[in-house]
Amino acid sequence: MDLEKPLPSLQDADALQFWQAAKEHRLALQWCSTCKSFLYPPGPACALCGAIDIVYKDIGREVTGSLYSYIITHRAFVPGFATNVPYVVALAEINEACNMKLLANLINCAPEKVRIGMQLRMVWEDRTPEVTLPQWEPL
Ligand SMILES: [Zn+2]
Repeated sequence: MDLEKPLPSLQDADALQFWQAAKEHRLALQWCSTCKSFLYPPGPACALCGAIDIVYKDIGREVTGSLYSYIITHRAFVPGFATNVPYVVALAEINEACNMKLLANLINCAPEKVRIGMQLRMVWEDRTPEVTLPQWEPL
């Protein structure tokens, strides 16, 4: 456990189901019942149409994606990441959620091996007993 790395707030009522599912190594995403779209990050209303009829849908434990974009971070702007540089932050389209994009670290992949379109799977990092973070790794 590395407490120098920032953690998400578990006080955000809109995101609570996301983090509760993550703790169980499952992906749960908000879904707008009006425009039939997955939403991320979680919020009080649909970012696409403004509707407030939002529900959570369970995507499950087997989540795959396609790398849409990424950056390679060479400098740790937060001290807790100093031992991780260089590391990859990846935006991937989730195959099981209408290609909705989710941002997370891409782990177990050397930065020079990263390619747009590469296939990924979601894995989970139990950062603390309360907080589990989604991560991507090569499929
Ligand atoms: Zn909507």
